[in-house]
Amino acid sequence: MRDITLCHPRLQELATKLTAESAKQGLKIAIGETYRTVAEQDALYAQGRTKPGNKVTNVPGSTYSSYHQWGTAFDIYRYDGQGAYNKAGNFFGRVGAIGVSIGLEWGGNWKSPVDKPHFQLPDWGSSASGIKQVYASPEEFKKTWVKIPTGYTVGWNHDENGWWYADAKIT
Ligand SMILES: [Zn+2]
Repeated sequence: MRDITLCHPRLQELATKLTAESAKQGLKIAIGETYRTVAEQDALYAQGRTKPGNKVTNVPGSTYSSYHQWGTAFDIYRYDGQGAYNKAGNFFGRVGAIGVSIGLEWGGNWKSPVDKPHFQLPDWGSSASGIKQVYASPEEFKKTWVKIPTGYTVGWNHDENGWWYADAKIT
Protein backbone atom coordinates (compact mmCIF):
# COMPACT_ATOMS: atom_id res chain seq x y z
CA MET A 1 0.00 0.00 0.00
CA ARG A 2 1.06 3.55 -0.53
CA ASP A 3 -0.41 5.06 2.62
CA ILE A 4 2.11 6.43 5.10
CA THR A 5 -0.67 7.07 7.64
CA LEU A 6 -0.88 3.29 8.16
CA CYS A 7 2.67 3.32 9.48
CA HIS A 8 4.14 3.82 12.94
CA PRO A 9 3.67 7.45 14.09
CA ARG A 10 7.41 8.04 14.43
CA LEU A 11 8.03 6.68 10.93
CA GLN A 12 5.42 9.12 9.63
CA GLU A 13 7.33 11.99 11.26
CA LEU A 14 10.62 10.78 9.82
CA ALA A 15 9.15 10.34 6.32
CA THR A 16 7.95 13.94 6.45
CA LYS A 17 11.35 15.10 7.65
CA LEU A 18 13.21 13.08 5.01
CA THR A 19 11.06 14.58 2.27
CA ALA A 20 11.62 18.12 3.56
CA GLU A 21 15.36 17.78 4.20
CA SER A 22 15.90 16.16 0.81
CA ALA A 23 13.97 18.94 -0.93
CA LYS A 24 16.26 21.49 0.74
CA GLN A 25 19.16 19.81 -1.06
CA GLY A 26 17.32 19.75 -4.38
CA LEU A 27 16.36 16.09 -4.07
CA LYS A 28 12.66 15.77 -4.75
CA ILE A 29 11.29 12.47 -3.45
CA ALA A 30 7.91 10.85 -2.91
CA ILE A 31 6.87 7.99 -0.67
CA GLY A 32 6.07 4.72 -2.44
CA GLU A 33 5.42 1.40 -0.75
CA THR A 34 4.64 1.67 2.97
CA TYR A 35 2.55 -0.78 5.01
CA ARG A 36 2.14 -4.22 3.44
CA THR A 37 -0.58 -6.71 4.32
CA VAL A 38 0.08 -10.47 4.53
CA ALA A 39 -1.74 -10.90 1.20
CA GLU A 40 0.38 -8.21 -0.44
CA GLN A 41 3.58 -9.79 0.85
CA ASP A 42 2.41 -13.19 -0.42
CA ALA A 43 1.71 -11.70 -3.86
CA LEU A 44 5.25 -10.31 -3.97
CA TYR A 45 6.65 -13.64 -2.82
CA ALA A 46 4.81 -15.42 -5.65
CA GLN A 47 6.50 -13.20 -8.20
CA GLY A 48 9.35 -15.18 -9.79
CA ARG A 49 8.08 -18.39 -8.18
CA THR A 50 4.51 -19.31 -9.07
CA LYS A 51 3.93 -16.10 -11.04
CA PRO A 52 5.99 -14.49 -13.81
CA GLY A 53 8.66 -11.90 -13.16
CA ASN A 54 11.86 -11.59 -11.20
CA LYS A 55 12.04 -12.52 -7.55
CA VAL A 56 11.68 -9.42 -5.41
CA THR A 57 11.56 -10.85 -1.90
CA ASN A 58 12.70 -13.94 -0.03
CA VAL A 59 10.00 -13.88 2.63
CA PRO A 60 6.34 -14.99 2.43
CA GLY A 61 3.64 -13.00 4.22
CA SER A 62 2.90 -15.46 7.01
CA THR A 63 6.40 -15.08 8.47
CA TYR A 64 6.09 -11.30 9.09
CA SER A 65 9.71 -11.07 8.00
CA SER A 66 9.47 -7.79 6.12
CA TYR A 67 9.46 -4.58 8.15
CA HIS A 68 6.90 -3.30 5.66
CA GLN A 69 4.47 -5.69 7.36
CA TRP A 70 5.18 -4.05 10.72
CA GLY A 71 4.46 -0.51 9.57
CA THR A 72 8.04 0.52 10.28
CA ALA A 73 9.39 0.78 6.71
CA PHE A 74 8.79 2.81 3.57
CA ASP A 75 10.31 3.07 0.12
CA ILE A 76 10.95 6.29 -1.74
CA TYR A 77 11.16 7.16 -5.39
CA ARG A 78 12.53 10.04 -7.34
CA TYR A 79 9.90 12.69 -7.98
CA ASP A 80 11.67 15.23 -10.15
CA GLY A 81 10.58 13.98 -13.56
CA GLN A 82 13.94 12.30 -14.20
CA GLY A 83 12.64 8.74 -13.77
CA ALA A 84 11.52 7.17 -10.51
CA TYR A 85 14.67 5.06 -10.07
CA ASN A 86 17.21 7.09 -12.04
CA LYS A 87 20.46 6.80 -10.08
CA ALA A 88 22.17 9.74 -11.80
CA GLY A 89 23.87 12.19 -9.47
CA ASN A 90 24.03 9.56 -6.72
CA PHE A 91 20.43 10.54 -6.02
CA PHE A 92 19.58 7.62 -3.75
CA GLY A 93 22.93 7.72 -1.99
CA ARG A 94 22.41 11.37 -1.09
CA VAL A 95 18.87 10.79 0.16
CA GLY A 96 20.15 7.74 2.07
CA ALA A 97 22.73 9.86 3.87
CA ILE A 98 20.04 12.35 4.88
CA GLY A 99 17.87 9.48 6.14
CA VAL A 100 20.67 8.13 8.29
CA SER A 101 21.40 11.61 9.65
CA ILE A 102 17.80 11.94 10.94
CA GLY A 103 17.76 8.49 12.53
CA LEU A 104 16.49 6.10 9.88
CA GLU A 105 18.09 2.85 8.84
CA TRP A 106 18.81 2.90 5.10
CA GLY A 107 18.62 -0.23 2.93
CA GLY A 108 21.46 1.11 0.79
CA ASN A 109 23.83 0.24 3.63
CA TRP A 110 22.88 -3.43 3.50
CA LYS A 111 25.15 -6.00 1.88
CA SER A 112 22.45 -8.30 0.53
CA PRO A 113 20.14 -7.21 -0.83
CA VAL A 114 21.22 -3.60 -1.28
CA ASP A 115 17.90 -1.73 -1.24
CA LYS A 116 18.53 1.95 -1.87
CA PRO A 117 14.91 3.19 -1.95
CA HIS A 118 14.19 1.54 1.43
CA PHE A 119 14.14 3.16 4.89
CA GLN A 120 13.04 1.78 8.24
CA LEU A 121 13.06 2.44 11.97
CA PRO A 122 16.38 1.13 13.33
CA ASP A 123 15.13 0.05 16.76
CA TRP A 124 15.06 -3.72 16.32
CA GLY A 125 18.04 -4.25 14.01
CA SER A 126 18.13 -4.72 10.26
CA SER A 127 16.20 -7.98 10.17
CA ALA A 128 12.63 -8.45 11.34
CA SER A 129 13.76 -11.34 13.55
CA GLY A 130 14.53 -8.62 16.10
CA ILE A 131 10.99 -7.28 16.34
CA LYS A 132 9.53 -10.80 16.21
CA GLN A 133 11.30 -11.55 19.49
CA VAL A 134 9.38 -8.71 21.14
CA TYR A 135 5.91 -8.83 19.53
CA ALA A 136 3.85 -11.82 18.48
CA SER A 137 2.43 -10.11 15.41
CA PRO A 138 2.09 -6.72 13.72
CA GLU A 139 -1.41 -6.48 15.24
CA GLU A 140 0.02 -6.81 18.78
CA PHE A 141 2.73 -4.30 17.94
CA LYS A 142 0.18 -1.76 16.67
CA LYS A 143 -1.57 -1.76 20.05
CA THR A 144 1.55 -0.15 21.53
CA TRP A 145 1.67 2.76 19.08
CA VAL A 146 1.28 6.17 20.66
CA LYS A 147 -0.47 8.71 18.51
CA ILE A 148 1.00 12.17 18.84
CA PRO A 149 -1.85 14.72 19.02
CA THR A 150 -2.27 16.98 16.00
CA GLY A 151 -0.20 20.11 16.33
CA TYR A 152 2.48 18.43 18.43
CA THR A 153 5.70 16.83 17.35
CA VAL A 154 7.84 13.98 18.60
CA GLY A 155 10.16 15.51 21.20
CA TRP A 156 9.58 18.29 23.67
CA ASN A 157 6.30 20.16 23.48
CA HIS A 158 5.05 23.07 25.52
CA ASP A 159 1.45 23.94 26.31
CA GLU A 160 -0.67 25.20 29.21
CA ASN A 161 0.41 22.15 31.22
CA GLY A 162 4.08 23.00 30.84
CA TRP A 163 6.76 21.00 29.10
CA TRP A 164 6.05 17.40 28.19
CA TYR A 165 7.75 14.87 26.01
CA ALA A 166 5.84 13.30 23.13
CA ASP A 167 7.50 10.02 22.36
CA ALA A 168 6.10 7.52 19.89
CA LYS A 169 9.06 5.30 20.63
CA ILE A 170 8.34 1.86 21.97
CA THR A 171 9.44 1.35 25.56
ZN1 LIG B 1 11.23 -1.44 1.31
